[in-house]
Amino acid sequence: MKSPFQPQTNLAIMAEYAASHQQENDRFAAYIKEYNDEEIDAKVQELDALISPTISCTDCGNCCKSLMVCLNEGEADRLSGHLNMKREDFDLTYLEKGSNGLMIMNRMPCPFLANNKCSVYEYRFEGCKEFPALHMPHFKRRIFTTFMHYDRCPIIFNVVEALKEEMHFTKDQ
Ligand code: SF4
Ligand code: SF4
Repeated sequence: MKSPFQPQTNLAIMAEYAASHQQENDRFAAYIKEYNDEEIDAKVQELDALISPTISCTDCGNCCKSLMVCLNEGEADRLSGHLNMKREDFDLTYLEKGSNGLMIMNRMPCPFLANNKCSVYEYRFEGCKEFPALHMPHFKRRIFTTFMHYDRCPIIFNVVEALKEEMHFTKDQ
């Protein structure tokens, strides 16, 4: 009987692998460009559906610890209302605003992470809900950002490594 999939979730091992396999990952990013969008998306979504359930986000929480989260006005309004804070106070406490109107949380880890869980789960932002975005179409267009997060997110790491196998990609020795 085939043994159950054992995902790699050790962030230190992932980081070491990413650093020592930069060229392999660059080759892989170029390799998948030869395939059409639909074919890659179907494979990634299938692997994501298989692998995500084997990884506990509440044990990990690394995206909430290591990403600057973007939010929009509506999201800031909703969360400040939930926290009973004036928008002005919420903005001063939690946000950094760019000249282009972009708003990001002003610190990492996210201040709403408590015991590795989101304390404002119902009010979390679209970016939080989407990450790591492997269920979404146009994986090829996001390959740069996917590799930016490859050693940060065990779901991405394991899906990418499984995708290499699935696509018969020749890894470095
Ligand atoms: S709002 Fe919640 S889900 Fe989003 S980064 Fe903060 S803790 Fe994580
Ligand atoms: S989405 Fe990735 S980085 Fe975030 S908690 Fe889950 S496994 Fe960890």
